[in-house]
Amino acid sequence: MTQELFSAAPMPRRRSRQVEVGGVRVGSEAPVVVQSMTNTDTADVLGTAMQVAELARAGSELVRITVNNEAAAKAVPHIRDRLLALNLDVPLVGDFHYNGHTLLANHPACAEALAKLRINPGNVGAGSKRDPQFAAIVDIACKYDKPVRIGVNWGSLDPSVLARIMDANAKLAEPRDAGAVMREALVVSALESAAKAEEYGLAGDRIILSAKVSSVQDLIAVYRDMARRCDYPLHLGLTEAGMGSKGIVASTAALGVLLQEGIGDTIRISLTPEPGGSRTQEVVVAQEILQTMGLRAFTPMVTACPGCGRTTSTFFQELADGIQRYVREQMPVWREQYDGVENMTLAVMGCVVNGPGESKHANIGISLPGTGETPAAPVYVDGEKTVTLRGENIAAEFKAIVDDYIATRYTKKAG
Ligand code: SF4
Repeated sequence: MTQELFSAAPMPRRRSRQVEVGGVRVGSEAPVVVQSMTNTDTADVLGTAMQVAELARAGSELVRITVNNEAAAKAVPHIRDRLLALNLDVPLVGDFHYNGHTLLANHPACAEALAKLRINPGNVGAGSKRDPQFAAIVDIACKYDKPVRIGVNWGSLDPSVLARIMDANAKLAEPRDAGAVMREALVVSALESAAKAEEYGLAGDRIILSAKVSSVQDLIAVYRDMARRCDYPLHLGLTEAGMGSKGIVASTAALGVLLQEGIGDTIRISLTPEPGGSRTQEVVVAQEILQTMGLRAFTPMVTACPGCGRTTSTFFQELADGIQRYVREQMPVWREQYDGVENMTLAVMGCVVNGPGESKHANIGISLPGTGETPAAPVYVDGEKTVTLRGENIAAEFKAIVDDYIATRYTKKAG
């Protein structure tokens, strides 16, 4: 049997419709969009505007805010105004549950200020109220020409859909297990709600779908199924992913599989922040998933070896950390000034074993001396050794080499 010589490339993106959200294109051939959500009280105009600004500056291309009561609905246009005063035109998405129809009807300025409405079909109203309340929100979306995300969540799945799928399952000769029933109910709830929204007048290219669960395998199965059964753009995210490394790993595992299969048009990483931790971590993780998969580039990536018994000092760890922080801090300025700098690659390596080789693969790499090696750190630029650094100022000198490389290799933007 002939072996393939070259490994397979990522699957092409699934062809979905394209939805425009406040100037950001979602779906079809548009790049996968990064989004996030605030955790401030939306009625706190200043606090929410500041957090949206922080998320947008970190790279969130859409920011969702909860709109849960009259005070929050009243605050939305003021939040938008504050952001515009800061020269931040990031599209805001309003998250509505239970009373969205009333809030949007009572506060047209809120509807106008938002770039997208998110409705959860499981929370839009119970019994006979559900359809008219859902229709009322769709009417407002049509009136203000706003796209809608129909966002199903297994924690608030529409009980009537679940009951119907369970009944149908019970009549099968070989009924499916409870997990399969729940997954089918999630997908059906999303698809039927989208069909209903179109029936009420919302255009098909104003609808985005999501169906979030907190288990990695269920999420993969649900989105594969949804991708097969519709061409709406899909918002991916593992709901309630959790805190710290667990949340990051679970989200990456689930989204990595789906994105590799070409499924997913916008992503949100639902991390619980560490106490006192920054909300922007979810944006950084989303960007790093897309960048490490080669789907988008946001910030120069630093390759660093893990270290081993050949590196008994922490100097190279500190240098790798310092460089990664430096490029992330500088990126907002570099992005304004130079084209393509986000594609730059850096390597910080701990010893001579893999150091020179890995450094030559990066745009700029430094191979630090391991234990017992000559105290010298050769630097490689585009594969060629250019200088050897020594002494106390290696970190500052390496940053200067990075600055110089950017100034000379990337085209300065006009204006
Ligand atoms: S490059 Fe050197 S220090 Fe880094 S992990 Fe490999 S052998 Fe260890």
